[in-house]
Amino acid sequence: MTTDSEFARVSSEKTDFDVVVVGAGFAGLYLLYKLRELGFSARALEAAGDVGGTWYWNRYPGARCDILSIDYSYSFDPELEAEWQWSEKYATQPEILRYLQHVAAKHDLRRDIVFATRVESASWDDDSAQWLIRTDKGDEVTCRYYVMATGCLSMPKAPDIEGSGRFRGEVHYTSRWPHEGVDFTGKRVAVIGTGSSGIQSIPLIAAQAEQLTVFQRTPNFSFPAHNGPIPAHRLADYESDCAGYRERARWSRIGVPSEPATIGALQVSEAERQARYEAMWEAGELVKIGSTFTDLILNRASNETLAQFIRGKIRATVRNPETADTLSPKDHYVITKRPCLDTNYFETYNLDHVRLIDLRKTPITTITETGITTASESFEFDAIVYATGFDAMTGPIVAVNITGRDGITVRDKWAGGPLTYLGLMTTGFPNFFTVTGPGSPSVLSNMMVSIEQHVDWICDCLKDLRAENLAVIEPTATAEAGWVQHVNDCANITLYPTANSWYMGANVPDKPRVFLPYVGGVDAYRGVCNEVVAQNYLGFVRSGPGQRRVNDGVIRRLQPDVQRMLKMLTSLNLPLMNEMSPEGARAFSKELAATRPPGPEVGEIVDGLLPCAEGDIPYRLYRPATPGPHPVVVYFHGGGWVLGSHDSDDPFCRDLCVRSNAVFVSVNYRHAPEHRFPAAPDDAFAAVQWVANHLESLGGVPGQLAVCGWSAGGNLATVVCQMASAAGGPEICGQALITPVTDCDFSRPSYTATGANYILTEPLMRWFWDHYADPADRLHPKASPLRAQDLSGLPPALVVTAEFDPLRDEGLAYADALAAAGVTVKHLPCRGQIHTSVTAVDLILSSAKARAEIAAAIRQFFQ
Ligand code: FAD
Ligand code: NAP
Repeated sequence: MTTDSEFARVSSEKTDFDVVVVGAGFAGLYLLYKLRELGFSARALEAAGDVGGTWYWNRYPGARCDILSIDYSYSFDPELEAEWQWSEKYATQPEILRYLQHVAAKHDLRRDIVFATRVESASWDDDSAQWLIRTDKGDEVTCRYYVMATGCLSMPKAPDIEGSGRFRGEVHYTSRWPHEGVDFTGKRVAVIGTGSSGIQSIPLIAAQAEQLTVFQRTPNFSFPAHNGPIPAHRLADYESDCAGYRERARWSRIGVPSEPATIGALQVSEAERQARYEAMWEAGELVKIGSTFTDLILNRASNETLAQFIRGKIRATVRNPETADTLSPKDHYVITKRPCLDTNYFETYNLDHVRLIDLRKTPITTITETGITTASESFEFDAIVYATGFDAMTGPIVAVNITGRDGITVRDKWAGGPLTYLGLMTTGFPNFFTVTGPGSPSVLSNMMVSIEQHVDWICDCLKDLRAENLAVIEPTATAEAGWVQHVNDCANITLYPTANSWYMGANVPDKPRVFLPYVGGVDAYRGVCNEVVAQNYLGFVRSGPGQRRVNDGVIRRLQPDVQRMLKMLTSLNLPLMNEMSPEGARAFSKELAATRPPGPEVGEIVDGLLPCAEGDIPYRLYRPATPGPHPVVVYFHGGGWVLGSHDSDDPFCRDLCVRSNAVFVSVNYRHAPEHRFPAAPDDAFAAVQWVANHLESLGGVPGQLAVCGWSAGGNLATVVCQMASAAGGPEICGQALITPVTDCDFSRPSYTATGANYILTEPLMRWFWDHYADPADRLHPKASPLRAQDLSGLPPALVVTAEFDPLRDEGLAYADALAAAGVTVKHLPCRGQIHTSVTAVDLILSSAKARAEIAAAIRQFFQ
């Protein structure tokens, strides 16, 4: 079919549409169906000769889905769900393509698709509020809304190997496989690349070829697919309540119904860990990785236990130990590159006619007319197969010359990495949408769930615009910047950014290194998108005849792990501490503390007693594992002068001890209401005097004494500095004040703006103060150090504040007051954090950076 007749077949005279869709894969087909249902005129333009997208192009032997077939299918059409039976656990490419062809035929979608036509440019005209689309065939189409359903993995990576055009034999790309298939019988074949495409195709190419040489740059973690019939329990689950099953998928972490893990890999015995890994291995499902342990993508040591398990499996399978070693990934964490599902991949290397070349040891120097030359050897081949991957996620988008407002192109705007709001739109390009665009869960999820969610969101958005007589929608710059920040925040608490993966753009030379997808989870993401709509399209400007509605704002400002924790706490519906007695609150907080991770190992822990005004008080000393003597930090725990102990802040003290390489002495000062103000500061000061007098016997360095405290403990730490200054000693060389209480005033904006939902609340702070000090006493600088007449001469300070903390502004005020008094002050604002974040070791991973900075500041005190 020529393109001329193709366009004429589909287009008739009409060249202006409500919506132009680019792509006719899973996304484009569903979008077309849905737009039609809603009464929008739509045209889809597709470079391929027919529907299918990924499954049209990637016809290499062994190509299959790696998400269970029942999950990797549409959910929008119950009739389709009932009539289509998948033949295997993981369907083959031909079966998936047949499915898509069936869907296209069932809903008569081809009549609105122009095939064999590549979109080359799209430009926005502000006056007419329209997009003008141009194709490689010279066709022009206009539309109000332009949607790229061009896929994340549809643009093959350009060959980046010296001499790649020279080879005279057969050349095949897994991503552009001939429709008629390839017969490798009797041939000497090279495969370059050992990602999912290579790993799926290598065993089948080996089965045909006379000789197979695999050129591997990076070995990959691969799990056995154990393909066969769909596991009976999964099928039963799906068939017994299909709608419910789909809904669970939509609200799951990766778009497949599954039980989330509840425990970390290092929290179980070695035997249990191995048993769980064996079960994961036997299941043959990538989703099982996420339901085995909570922290595999978060914690290096946990991840290494899985890496070792897989390397063990490779060694047990591959007979040649050197080959097994070459096949064992060591340069990236499991999951940080897309793990593969294979059938007999590692076993293939036991075949005599299959050879593995390690390009790390002997890189390819050039492709020649007859084969491949590496640093140590020349090979002759009849065929070369490139399984070298894709310019993922952004590639297909920036390949089109998309010009938005003011002549700016997406390519230029994204030169430093993609900037999107929700992975759906980008500022400056009105009415332009991407399905599963960068900044959305996309490739980290079951794409079917993510595609349907995006298509539904876009269609609902267009419907809402139409209903409200609006025509144009565009994200605000603030909303987009906030989302990009959130996407990065999510990635940065994981191990993903540590790998040279295509998720990071690292496989394409000169592509910016930015983590492309959204890793916060399908469930969290769906929640965000729904919230944006519920808040009247927060972060968007929408306009139409005679109206312009600006709803500026940022949808997620909390760090992602803080957000998740708060959501979890809300779901537990816990009692409020400020409605308890002090004894009740102490028991309750002790109970909560018992469930958290223990913090790192330190060299030594010694519990002791030190004398104070009314008898001895306990302390706990943490000594680093490094040879002493060490500087000493006296630490005061948080808890509003009412709660807490050296146990409550134990993980935090361990963490700071290790990071700052200092001895920490955590002091149990007396608590209110039994011992009201000024018992706590008096004890704190006595403790510092005692430590100063016993510095050497505690393993300290003379003259190297600092104080540190969190919350009410931060209050005591700085009060102690004021008392020492007034008393002429002891000498304190630094004060680290972590989200400290510095004043008794509740009227600062951080109380009014953030006081309600972030664990430390205004009622709780009032409860603490009421138990601690009479209103008149609160004004005393020993209670409200911000009220001291003169702060000059105090030790250098670090003041840490958290964005969503009622105490934020008084911390900031104190930092300012110290600076105004000539004290050296470093202020560390913690964006997206709450009052308790910094102390939540191994719980709020996003706060680890702050702890590293606190430790650096403490080390600085002693220099
Ligand atoms: P695609 O299927 O990629 O379709 C996009 C279409 O847009 C293509 O047909 C392309 O020709 C067309 N196009 C692009 N640019 C232009 C242009 N400028 N002009 C005209 N047309 C254009 N995901 C999973 O969740 N599970 C899996 O098991 C899985 N297996 C995969 C296996 C392989 C081999 C590959 C490569 C990917 C796999 N994926 C998998 C990801 C897969 O891409 C998605 O699941 C899904 O098929 C994407 O559908 P789509 O419609 O969004 O994009
Ligand atoms: P890929 O994962 O990017 O793998 C490409 C391979 O080629 C890598 O081993 C890469 O090595 C190698 N390579 C690239 N350029 C090279 C060069 N110049 N010299 C030597 N080696 C080079 O691509 P893919 O295998 O096509 O898979 C892409 C994604 O598609 C997958 O991650 C997955 O999401 C999806 N997919 C899924 C399935 C499935 O099982 N359903 C199958 C295929 C694809 P480096 O790692 O060193 O860069």
